[in-house]
Amino acid sequence: MYESKEWKSLSLIARAELIPVIEDVRPGAFLTISKEFKPNLEQCIQESEILYHVEDYSSGNSRYLVSKNKEMLNDTFSYWKSVYDSNSECLDYKYHNLMGNFFGYPQCCIDYFVDAFSCGRMPGRDWNGRAAVSFKKGTYNDVFNYVFHLPCRVNCKETRILGENLKDVLEKYDMEAAETIKNIKLLSILKRC
Ligand SMILES: [Zn+2]
Repeated sequence: MYESKEWKSLSLIARAELIPVIEDVRPGAFLTISKEFKPNLEQCIQESEILYHVEDYSSGNSRYLVSKNKEMLNDTFSYWKSVYDSNSECLDYKYHNLMGNFFGYPQCCIDYFVDAFSCGRMPGRDWNGRAAVSFKKGTYNDVFNYVFHLPCRVNCKETRILGENLKDVLEKYDMEAAETIKNIKLLSILKRC
């Protein structure tokens, strides 16, 4: 399937998000895709036996929540939709915890993220700054470039293990997608060096 023209038509980000779900490295993912690619995405999803919920928007984009775990998918989707429909600006611990678990993020990193937000900090900027320091010291571990979350520490063990698994599976099935994810992360760190 990873060689099919339907697969290759998907964005590199969508491919990098999907592979770890298909290959059981993470429980779920969220994808945004434009209308023209919906049939191709749905064919790939069908072939890989993952389940999904989809929300179509008037902009022409659709958001897919995908997972192999039906119960987790249904619970996450209904909670996400209730928060989304209520237009809530206030995303609470329950929301971040539920979504973080669905995406397979380490608990220490979910807790760090929620904590940083509640203290008014910007976890993304925090992370890039700390990663840049570690990069300049030559201690930055490049498997951190393959994770989709903001790690709690530059030496977070759970992130390292997850990153190793993600790197392995992406490089095995889709080198182009692996390189894209790595370069996006690396660029945002290098900008802070
Ligand atoms: Zn962590």
